[in-house]
Amino acid sequence: MVNMNIDKNTNSADVKVFIPGERIKDECGVFGIYAPEKKVADIIFYGLQALQHRGQESAGIAVSDGDDILVFKDLGLVAQVFNEQNIVPLTGYTGIGHTRYSTRGKNVWQNSQPIYRMFKNESFAVAHNGNLINISELRKKQAAKGIKFETTTDTEVVASLIEGSACENIEEAIKDATSKLKGSYSLLILTKDKLFGIRDPHGFRPLVLGSLDGNYVIASETCALDIIDARFIREVDPGEIIVIDKDGLRSQMLLQVERTSMCVFELIYFARPDSYIHDKNMFKVRHRMGKQLAKESPVDADIVISVPDSGTPAAIGYSAASKIPYAEGFIKNRYIGRTFIQPEQAVREISVRLKLNPLKEIIKDKRIIVVDDSIVRGNTSRKIVKMLYKSGAREVHMRISSPPLLFPCYYGIDMATKKEFIANHKTVEDIRRFLNVDSLRYLSIDGLERAIGESRDKFCFACFNGDYPVQSRENLDYDKFSLDKEEKISSNA
Ligand code: SF4
Repeated sequence: MVNMNIDKNTNSADVKVFIPGERIKDECGVFGIYAPEKKVADIIFYGLQALQHRGQESAGIAVSDGDDILVFKDLGLVAQVFNEQNIVPLTGYTGIGHTRYSTRGKNVWQNSQPIYRMFKNESFAVAHNGNLINISELRKKQAAKGIKFETTTDTEVVASLIEGSACENIEEAIKDATSKLKGSYSLLILTKDKLFGIRDPHGFRPLVLGSLDGNYVIASETCALDIIDARFIREVDPGEIIVIDKDGLRSQMLLQVERTSMCVFELIYFARPDSYIHDKNMFKVRHRMGKQLAKESPVDADIVISVPDSGTPAAIGYSAASKIPYAEGFIKNRYIGRTFIQPEQAVREISVRLKLNPLKEIIKDKRIIVVDDSIVRGNTSRKIVKMLYKSGAREVHMRISSPPLLFPCYYGIDMATKKEFIANHKTVEDIRRFLNVDSLRYLSIDGLERAIGESRDKFCFACFNGDYPVQSRENLDYDKFSLDKEEKISSNA
């Protein structure tokens, strides 16, 4: 018997309104474990908490005891969704978990993950980080076969491919479904007695393998392994499928790898500073970006401050290279959780101040270098600069630890459309004037590559240079898709 807790309210009138482009958002974190003798739901809960930065809209856990799969999921942060009452019944020795930020599909209960389906008489659950670029094509084909969709997510399309597969067994069905996907996907799939970890052949999103007391763990980032005291083994390779069951771990290079293209924004901003990608610690990589930025764009000033938290490692690096002291210029309110931002201008202003309040004693009468990781539309940066001047700054010099954002992302990052990127239609000097800063400089693409310490050929740099690793017809329509999406979101307000 399958026992799913699905009696949660579905609030289709959920009207989370975000101000598009205020921050770039990642699209999810995944965590899975296979550990006979352990009750894994608690472990998954902690793993998901470590991945909370990857998605704050919903959280879910699916576990199996070898016979049945149980799923519990809801809208909210991990600690809001789960409590003793709902986690205790999740008995099982293997399971997967998910934290969601929606780039495709609204923030409603149905779209939360893991998604649960049946293949023949066998249940399975899917958790996904990424974005498929052939989603419309796949969806149409599946709909033509009579498959009904309950959600608007890519993940349900993956599940439907498995569900509708003509293969003999579920393992073959999963491999068959995966071979049809295009785009970015780090997938965890749970069957009644197996855990699958699959990474797309470009390796856009991270996925790592670890061990806990001799059992296997798979997670989006190494920080999730640290939190449960698991040992990092290695990254799941692009194109690799890992199967974990009672016989141990099997690995197969399922998909042909033409070009690996790890998202460079994982290194700039998304991944937690304590995580490792390509054996590099993210704090150190960002620190080097700041150092490189100081070398490329020095300026005389009294202090270096960051836009916390994402700008902090680069600001410390800038300070180290420039020998200009680093100081805390803003106090960040870390307890806001999900931000339901109303669109009215007055409330937008409050929302920035609610998150960041300048430390006037530090700012007053100083020439300030403020370091941030990126500028999307420039509205938030402008407000930040205004706050600094209001707090008595004599000069404000903005330094950005990534190159100008020019092209939208198709691979699972919620970005503005091309024409909404401020750098797409304004020169650096025009942006400087718009932000009202004394100087503005970005890190160069070469400088970014140097700071990472690896060839850019191994990464996706598409949002900086337009060199998309995977193209599809749907890419071409993406700007239209994004506009439609934003219009729909606005119309919900
Ligand atoms: S386009 Fe930019 S954000 Fe998207 S995967 Fe490539 S580097 Fe990452």
